[in-house]
Amino acid sequence: MRVDLDLAGRTVLVVGGPAATRRVRAGVEAAGGTALVLPASEAVTLLRPSAEPPAGPAADLVVWVEGPERDRELVRSSARSARVPVTTAPPAGDRGRVTLVGGGPGHADLLTVAGRDALAAADVVLYDRLGPHDRLAELAPGAELVDVGKTPGHHAVPQREIERLLVGHALAGAHVVRLKGGDPFVFGRGSEEVAACRAAGVDVHVIPGVTSAVAVPGAAGIPVTHRGLSRSFTVVSGHVPFDEEEYAHLRGVGGTLVVLMGVNTLTQVAAGLVRAGMDAAMPLAVVERGFLPGQRTRITTVGAVCSRGGPPGVSSPAVVVVGEVVRLAGPDGVAELAVAVGACV
Ligand code: SAH
Repeated sequence: MRVDLDLAGRTVLVVGGPAATRRVRAGVEAAGGTALVLPASEAVTLLRPSAEPPAGPAADLVVWVEGPERDRELVRSSARSARVPVTTAPPAGDRGRVTLVGGGPGHADLLTVAGRDALAAADVVLYDRLGPHDRLAELAPGAELVDVGKTPGHHAVPQREIERLLVGHALAGAHVVRLKGGDPFVFGRGSEEVAACRAAGVDVHVIPGVTSAVAVPGAAGIPVTHRGLSRSFTVVSGHVPFDEEEYAHLRGVGGTLVVLMGVNTLTQVAAGLVRAGMDAAMPLAVVERGFLPGQRTRITTVGAVCSRGGPPGVSSPAVVVVGEVVRLAGPDGVAELAVAVGACV
């Protein structure tokens, strides 16, 4: 059983040697408390009731980590007289760990069996809006669920802070699951989280996920490859537009182009591809909200987007697909702007 205490603003007296107490200190700090690490003799002195004001306990909680049994009894009885609760940290061998779980896009049904098992065993789950979070209470019963996509001020928790939380909870002995949208290693900053865990000496494992780069076009009936139409696919981030050399490369490599995070730069990317010589009639699909309520596919051409902008009202999350394979889209694809358009670059 794990008891979650609200340690924000609290002082926790951690008793034991510095090496053994490291993970407990990190856990206390991750929970917003202040850790006071002392050997047993000093802890006993600190807990002794003071005649001077301010009266009252010097700590809100004592965590016993290691030391001879006699010291433990001393610390216990001092804490009892000072009316401070005492708890024992799990043995050093009982280390926490971090598992990055690829949640797939949109719907919890796309989690792998390994991902579901990791959630079921989690003490703490850090999630954001891109991972399938609707059913977390059911999939991770008993886990503390932390939304790192938003804080009360609606700002995303900065990446470094997410890494600090992962490491802090794991060092405190928890099994931490970081639930990511799609696959953790596709534009998900998963590799940075792995590096942070390794740097802190925390065990970390990665459970792959179904990536939106392949699954979301698939949800619209668009295969990223098709014999005779496309023998390769290139996945890019459209977070910022490309330079001319990159457009030339993307057009030259042929096959299917899949753009993630490409809603805001859609017009610029279409224009760049046309400038690089792509046929303006090349089909382009925008698949919004894959595997989510309101999933929608819009079909147009690079030339139309280039001259008129993307289909109206397109919003993130969406995957953009450019290539002949778009012609294979399922019947629910809505053809937009199918008219021929003049020069756009
Ligand atoms: N690691 C993720 C991608 C993270 S980048 C993966 O492998 O899928 C975020 C981008 O993924 C979004 O901007 C969007 O382009 C795409 N995306 C993620 N989930 C999506 C969904 N349900 N529908 C459409 N696009 C999605």
